[in-house]
Amino acid sequence: MNIAIIGGTHGNEPTGIEVVKFLGNENPQFKNSYKTFFANPEAHKLGKRYVDSDLNRAFGKTGQSKGYESTRSSELEKEIVGNFDFVLDLHTTTSNMGPTVILTHLDEASVRAACWLKENNPELVIIISSRAGGDCPYTTSMASSGLTVEIGPVANNVVKAELVLLTHKLVTELLDFNFQKTWEMKNIECFHTQGIMSYPEGEWMVHPEVDGHDFLQVREGDPLFINMKGELITHKGDPMYPLFINEAAYQENNTAFEYALKTNLQAVLDRA
Ligand SMILES: [Zn+2]
Repeated sequence: MNIAIIGGTHGNEPTGIEVVKFLGNENPQFKNSYKTFFANPEAHKLGKRYVDSDLNRAFGKTGQSKGYESTRSSELEKEIVGNFDFVLDLHTTTSNMGPTVILTHLDEASVRAACWLKENNPELVIIISSRAGGDCPYTTSMASSGLTVEIGPVANNVVKAELVLLTHKLVTELLDFNFQKTWEMKNIECFHTQGIMSYPEGEWMVHPEVDGHDFLQVREGDPLFINMKGELITHKGDPMYPLFINEAAYQENNTAFEYALKTNLQAVLDRA
């Protein structure tokens, strides 16, 4: 496999930038070949997620971009599309998610890569994007296989050694993976995203029993939001598992969190 490793797709997430800088300079020997990319240097200079539009929504058939990110997405496509088998994109989140990988592809190589990283890091959570298997606007769309790493919690523009070293570990494990190993997919737990929960109209905050508790089940009647008077908005409907709770980058879209079903890889593959 020839793997494109991307850091700094979001300029205010320096963890991936540290890792690609290190790997780009060291060039050690792994089973797979690779090249590193620093995706959004201008946004990084500004300490912002993006300059004109979100670079991680600029790819695929449904991707959209403006200004600087339009230029950068074209440049990255020119370098990556057709030249790499796999895109590994390194992100961080302000949410308390721990180490996760997001599957935006459901092909064999992508799914095996996720299983391999989970086997090596049992605490790692596998997330399947609701768009996986269809057209995605993410950087991973530049190859037929890929994974997005999301690690948190870390504030924007902050370097936390623990997360940088763990991200580097995940990258080197993938670089040394032979992509031949198979797993009993029904035994591999994953969270399949279903939608987003917006902040309700008014002055509501994510309830403390939810905030900071990514991947913990919320059931009918459990509190979701609270206001300064102590009034509650509770969950109605089937049990769900919130993630990206109170993510700083999602505030501009009024998103309180995403939510997922807890399932297994085989069940998702069967439905795809
Ligand atoms: Zn990001």
